[in-house]
Amino acid sequence: MVWTPQWNRQILQFPVWTPGSYTVRDHVQHLHSLRLSNASSALSLRRLSPSRWLCELTTLEPLTLTYAIESRDLTVRTGLVDPDFASLSLASVAMEIEGSRWLPHHLEVLAPSHWQVHLPLEPAFKGWLAKDFDALIDTPVHAGPFGVKPFSVHGHRHDLLLIGSPPFGWPEGFITDIERVCQATCDLMGTPPPAGDRYQLVLQLLEKGYGGLEHDHSAVLQFNWSALASKKGYRQLLQLIGHEYLHQWNVRRLRPVELRPYDYSQPVISEGLWFAEGITSYYDLFLPLWAGCSDEAMLLEDFGAELSSVLMSPGRSIQSLSMSAEEAWVKLYKATPASRDTQISYYRLGAAVAFCLDVRLRSLGSSLPVLLRHLWSAYGESCRGFCRDDLHQWLTSVDMGLPAELDQWLDDTRAVPLEQSAELLGLRLVPVQQKSPHHGLMLKQSAGDLVVQRVMHNSPGMRADLVVGDEILAINGFRVRCIDAVADLMRNCREVKLSFARRGLMKETLLQPETAIESWRLDIDPQASSGQLALREQWLKNV
Ligand SMILES: [Zn+2]
Repeated sequence: MVWTPQWNRQILQFPVWTPGSYTVRDHVQHLHSLRLSNASSALSLRRLSPSRWLCELTTLEPLTLTYAIESRDLTVRTGLVDPDFASLSLASVAMEIEGSRWLPHHLEVLAPSHWQVHLPLEPAFKGWLAKDFDALIDTPVHAGPFGVKPFSVHGHRHDLLLIGSPPFGWPEGFITDIERVCQATCDLMGTPPPAGDRYQLVLQLLEKGYGGLEHDHSAVLQFNWSALASKKGYRQLLQLIGHEYLHQWNVRRLRPVELRPYDYSQPVISEGLWFAEGITSYYDLFLPLWAGCSDEAMLLEDFGAELSSVLMSPGRSIQSLSMSAEEAWVKLYKATPASRDTQISYYRLGAAVAFCLDVRLRSLGSSLPVLLRHLWSAYGESCRGFCRDDLHQWLTSVDMGLPAELDQWLDDTRAVPLEQSAELLGLRLVPVQQKSPHHGLMLKQSAGDLVVQRVMHNSPGMRADLVVGDEILAINGFRVRCIDAVADLMRNCREVKLSFARRGLMKETLLQPETAIESWRLDIDPQASSGQLALREQWLKNV
């Protein structure tokens, strides 16, 4: 980095997290060989914190800062540079100079001559121009021997950058389907032009991987190619594309007030993450339907699975939705064996609350899309932050009681009214019984050992005093070495004698298997009234 200082005190700061991924990643751990100099000499830097340095200058000569980053992590939040290609999130690479955050930044990328460099910034002399530091580190950089496939959304050019391809070829009509999903997203927001421009959609197709990260003018996605062999997997890819595309509005520009502006130096507590991820997760299921790439039955299958995951998460009785969002920094991205029993994802419960709110609003003659468009025009387009009071204000205009209902869904650990909301649409949540005996243990099989990974709360395994790390050895005297054998040996038993090892000592316990619900399904109620059918038809539309 090269710049001319305006003050004698220069503070350099490396971001500790990547916007869009709410956990401290301490990117500085990959930095080395840091050196600051001017034309005369190397300058000394005093470290103020792991990611912050101070330099006291005696002259205001131009400065040069150099450092190296070990980029070996192929995630959408960090970076990888290898002989095949480079994929970088600049939040894990670029250093902020205090006082220069809102000034334009010029970027040059040096890459092998046979590589092309792709990034969604305005080209400028020998490189690209970012209007400020925020725009700079919001820029994903991809370089390698690959080109782009252009597509169009409501007449606006977008670029699709494909890294990797499925061995059986891309699904027929793939690019047309992407266009339709993006257009359906614009229609949902009621803004024919997309929020971003020079939009770049980057899809890394890998052997393993799933995820995405949104940017103002781009999204970077990872997906596993084997999933593309099934229609459901392809639908999931379109949902992921829709999810990240919708983030152009919801969270990039329509942002919880606490995140405006971002504080890159520390975690930022914001309950509004439930809205950012919950509403987006709710709509990503609908976008393929509205794009003509899915149908009502598929939507109910996907949405039923989403609601099932909430109903099957005991952690929702401990952690509320607002708490889940506020604790994201230390919980959601740092799973432990107890996570599912003590936490609930703000993505999934957020989508469930979005569903309840949408149905409730529709029963009152309004809808969630109407609320979303109001927030966009009131707080998003102008880049103002919004908070719960702003939601309350609009909800009050629909019904005086709605703010209190929303508060309960956000702050109480009591169940949100999923069954009642489904019923209003002539739908039923139906429990699916587990076919094998329920013991409440999640087991991992490795090298002939069966090790307990999780003991579900209030399960037979917990009552048998089993804990994470126990090695299951035998059931009723029969040696077990695979997970299926555990279920077979418990079948039709009211009680089994379980032999296990803990910290190298042999132990025994009695376990009483039970029957249990395995999942929930969202079914159409054949007895639905005309009123329920009419509301369901309404619910399936993006109005
Ligand atoms: Zn998201």
